[in-house]
Amino acid sequence: MNILKKMTTAVIGICCSLNAFAQQRSGGLEIRHLTGDYYIYTTWHEWAGKLYPANGMYVVTNKGTVIIDCPWDTAQLQPLLDSIEQKHHQPAVICIATHSHADRTGGFDYFRKKGIKTYSTEQTYQICRQKKEQEAAFRFTKDTVFRVGQHVLQTFFAGEGHTADNIVIWVKDARILYGGCLIKSVDNQEMGYIAESNLKAWPQSLRRLQQKYPRPAYIIPGHESWASNKSIIHTLQLLEAHAKSNP
Ligand SMILES: [Zn+2]
Repeated sequence: MNILKKMTTAVIGICCSLNAFAQQRSGGLEIRHLTGDYYIYTTWHEWAGKLYPANGMYVVTNKGTVIIDCPWDTAQLQPLLDSIEQKHHQPAVICIATHSHADRTGGFDYFRKKGIKTYSTEQTYQICRQKKEQEAAFRFTKDTVFRVGQHVLQTFFAGEGHTADNIVIWVKDARILYGGCLIKSVDNQEMGYIAESNLKAWPQSLRRLQQKYPRPAYIIPGHESWASNKSIIHTLQLLEAHAKSNP
């Protein structure tokens, strides 16, 4: 009975996501179309003895491709650039990281060497500097609009949460809210790495985000699935549960 149940689960799993399943085991690079010129890419990295996926996004414009957040798996830096070039014939020109951690900034030096303009907030830059992590070549000090070709990306700092410096990216046309690690996927049942988090401020930052962008069509969390756009509510619930069990 147990074996049968297990087999059924395995078969369903394989049918639903053969690609994700295969790559999740071996790592690699997965690119999935989101909408219009927007794509979500995923790489895997070992953390605390397990392989975890991390999401980034890129947008293809007629003036080159903009990458939001570096691959966590640095072995996928060049494959990501190659895939973008082959698929879209628009080489990467800009990379913006949404906070200081390696799953966002870990490709800055490589991208810089490839002639890609790397950007972060001043705050992220200072944290990277302090921790001797890879730094952006260019910094911005307040919420900034990036107009690249026909597309517009708006950065927004909603407040502290996962880290003191976490920002989100809003795409008005397609109503994409790229939340990065400020937002937990509905697939996440735990808070993940919170050593640098501001757990008190986090719920307020999320509410600010809900007020600012009330009807996103897509919400992209830093890790795991983005299929549900209930992930902000889910993050609020996780934070509440965490606060209750850690009074
Ligand atoms: Zn992080």
